[in-house]
Amino acid sequence: MSSALDAFLSAELDALRQKKLFRKLRLLDGRQLPEASFDGRCVVNLSSNNYLGLSTHPRLIDASRRVTEELGVGSGAVRTIAGTMKIHMELEEAIARFKQVEASVVFQSGFTANAGTVSSLLGKEDLIISDELNHASIIDGCRLSRAEIRVFPHKELNRLEDILKETTGFAGKRLVITDGVFSMEGDIAPLPQIVELAEKHGAIMMIDDAHSSGVLGKNGRGTVDHFNLQGRVDIQVGTLSKAIGSLGGYVCGSRNLVDFLYHRARPFLFSTSHPPAVAASCLAAFQVLQEEPVWLEQLWGNTRFFKDGLNRLGFDTGQSETPITPIIVGKGDLAMRFSDELFAEGVFAQGIGYPTVPEARSRIRTIVTATHTRKQLEFALDVLQRVGKRLGII
Ligand code: PMP
Repeated sequence: MSSALDAFLSAELDALRQKKLFRKLRLLDGRQLPEASFDGRCVVNLSSNNYLGLSTHPRLIDASRRVTEELGVGSGAVRTIAGTMKIHMELEEAIARFKQVEASVVFQSGFTANAGTVSSLLGKEDLIISDELNHASIIDGCRLSRAEIRVFPHKELNRLEDILKETTGFAGKRLVITDGVFSMEGDIAPLPQIVELAEKHGAIMMIDDAHSSGVLGKNGRGTVDHFNLQGRVDIQVGTLSKAIGSLGGYVCGSRNLVDFLYHRARPFLFSTSHPPAVAASCLAAFQVLQEEPVWLEQLWGNTRFFKDGLNRLGFDTGQSETPITPIIVGKGDLAMRFSDELFAEGVFAQGIGYPTVPEARSRIRTIVTATHTRKQLEFALDVLQRVGKRLGII
């Protein structure tokens, strides 16, 4: 290895170790289940985005197995050359029907869906107005677009309105962009008010529903359906990697939007499409969402049960309204110690500190799923209480 590279890497990694930010990847041995083996320890898993348990649902496994045998394991090309299979188109049509929009396009991940869409739609003559807690993939998309970026404090509608007023008459396009559910806080964007402001000021409206698809709205249709805002959000992004249980991301909206992205979104143009098994498992997942409402009911039943338990114990759970519930403890080293001691006692809840959240709002993040049993959640609450008391958090 070049000595310059090695010196750079060693210095960076030493700095991370000194700040106690160096991470070893936790190793999952077996399936992504509510109780699973990580690093050789069986724990109640409060760290997965597999909200509905679909990553191990028999209908999804069966669909991907059958399609693999029929079509093979890879698509062999990018979508715009030879890599568009019939099943890719079927999935896009199913998503558009599910979301009640004209059309949808599937990307390799939610990350590339956001980054590819924002960077292709906006250019340096345009303006992006973005919530400060929006996901990294939105931030990267904004930077790649070279548009002017104005960030408003989290959910502060007055500040959003100020920016829209200040930029009245802006020559280029203006895009207002927000997450539907925020991944570190678990709160929901005030979408009706944001949409109203975007409409009033003639801005394009885009939402990232990564944590809301399969979670909010009828059959899990997302934040737009949750607030009855059908037809009023220009661009909806979703992921196939969380509640849908598989892998990928999608963008939906008008036929023109999708046709434009087919021609301009760089991850779509320059990266190979999904293996057919991925498309098959996603197609099965959308059928499950419509035909088996029990998973969504169980997700919200477990969410209420667990949140009530945490609040009764006196934890600070911030503004959370969804299955993502942070437990805010203050300093980063306390959050990491909390997470480590929970893990040692059988509960996996990731510690999160600066730079992902402000140092004084360091936390662990808990996520319940439809497939947790009450016994597993009660066990987790017991451990949280014991460790929380020991560390002086409650
Ligand atoms: N948006 C948000 C809000 C997310 O939390 C994530 C995943 N961490 C993504 C987009 C990216 O989705 P994917 O994992 O499918 O790339």
